[in-house]
Amino acid sequence: MNHIQIGQTHIQLLQGDITVQQVDAIVNAANSSLLGGGGVDGAIHRAGGSAILEECQQIRNRQGGCATGDAVITTAGRLPAKHVIHTVGPVWNGGSNNERQLLADCYVHSLQLADEHQLISIAFPNISTGIYDFPKKEAAIIALQTVKEYIEQHPDTLLQQIIFVCYDADNLTLYEQQIQAMNV
Ligand code: ADP
Repeated sequence: MNHIQIGQTHIQLLQGDITVQQVDAIVNAANSSLLGGGGVDGAIHRAGGSAILEECQQIRNRQGGCATGDAVITTAGRLPAKHVIHTVGPVWNGGSNNERQLLADCYVHSLQLADEHQLISIAFPNISTGIYDFPKKEAAIIALQTVKEYIEQHPDTLLQQIIFVCYDADNLTLYEQQIQAMNV
């Protein structure tokens, strides 16, 4: 199963590269410097060009980067998406350092920014499950559960399409299992 609908919002799973998604916003798993890094962050800056980094620099000058669990929005430069929402996932450090709540915050703050900008479609990567080492199954449960709750608590959201772009087959399987278990 790779799709559910909650209210007017479709939640979709796919395997692939987030940089090619034609949506109002793709979400970047950034780091708190906002200056780029490896993984999906590197791929987004490479494909989107320097306009994204320039806007990240301006945000950094203004507010000193982005705290873990928070999110900021920039242009998407040359990407097919219109915006990039940069959120900073927690580094997994055993699980007793508020990692779960901080990961949920990433999804909520990204969705809030999307709604503030009246966006209709958004694509998420599997935040924190790469270099930051968050256990993939737990991250999938938190991602889907948090997004579901957000939509239920915001019946006036304009978001019609939320895509989880899984890069690896492992994550896609975990998301499929979890969406099945949610039984919506
Ligand atoms: P973090 O530091 O938050 O763990 P990473 O970029 O290392 O960020 O990994 C987050 C997730 O993004 C991982 O599941 C990784 O496989 C995935 N990923 C890497 N490149 C891409 C891409 N081009 N599109 C979508 N997901 C990607």
